[in-house]
Amino acid sequence: MPELPEVEVTRRGLVPHVTGARIVGVAVRHRGLRWPVPDDLESCLAGRTIRRVERRGKYLLLECAQEAGGGQPLDAGWLIVHLGMTGTLRVHPHAAQAGEAPAYGLHDHVDLLLQSPSGDRLTLRYRDPRRFGAVLWSTLSEAELAGHPLLRGLGVEPFDPAFDGQLLYRQTRGRSAAIKTVLLAGDIVVGVGNIYCSESLFRAGIRPTTPAGRLSAQRCERLAQAVRETLAEAIARGGSTLRDFVGSDGASGYFQLDCFVYDRAGKPCRRCGTPIRQIVQGQRSTFYCPQCQR
Ligand SMILES: [Zn+2]
Repeated sequence: MPELPEVEVTRRGLVPHVTGARIVGVAVRHRGLRWPVPDDLESCLAGRTIRRVERRGKYLLLECAQEAGGGQPLDAGWLIVHLGMTGTLRVHPHAAQAGEAPAYGLHDHVDLLLQSPSGDRLTLRYRDPRRFGAVLWSTLSEAELAGHPLLRGLGVEPFDPAFDGQLLYRQTRGRSAAIKTVLLAGDIVVGVGNIYCSESLFRAGIRPTTPAGRLSAQRCERLAQAVRETLAEAIARGGSTLRDFVGSDGASGYFQLDCFVYDRAGKPCRRCGTPIRQIVQGQRSTFYCPQCQR
């Protein structure tokens, strides 16, 4: 399942190819995703220019506007894309300027035919074999977008300066649930999926079963730092796959993070040699070192 690092790397991979490109065609071959692709997506998008590619949590947000005279944006809206369990969003350049779109397969649900400012044609293709993802359209303004039903419950971004130990400390007071469960819920900070939860808690030396409300301010500070380091490392590793965003079918999967504890049950801890333990919390597997994490 694509996690925040994969989505962020997708965003960075798309930016140089699609920013400023005009949408000259839209093909929707299958509307049955997690929520149906809007019936009027084609008419909503046709003729618009992609002005920028943003991300909130695991949602990609493509701002698309009509160009009025003088290059001024008009009537802006947002294409909201979620990759679900198996989704990919990839760029396929066409062989010639007026060239045909590349052949599509069974799971290629949505194609945007784009024309770059230099006249090159390319296809921005959404593929999703398991169909848990989403391709939606919203005409909310940038300020209003934070209140969109899919976005309003999200915690702060992990790389936002607002996310620090103090915030984590304040927001965990009075919460008796285990810190692993609280972190995974995503309402304090987004993007700490199951792998990154186990890894961040290891780096911070915190036992995943610790009640969140019992963490000291100092340990909250360490955990916030560990979350940022773990995600930044995953994004940096993904950066080496950026070339795969052009012209490939986008073999997905996790970045090859060198995990300290995740999926290493019974194997020796990389720091102290103690066998890594696996437990289940909220129906998800958790891995930790009983010696390094207290
Ligand atoms: Zn250890």
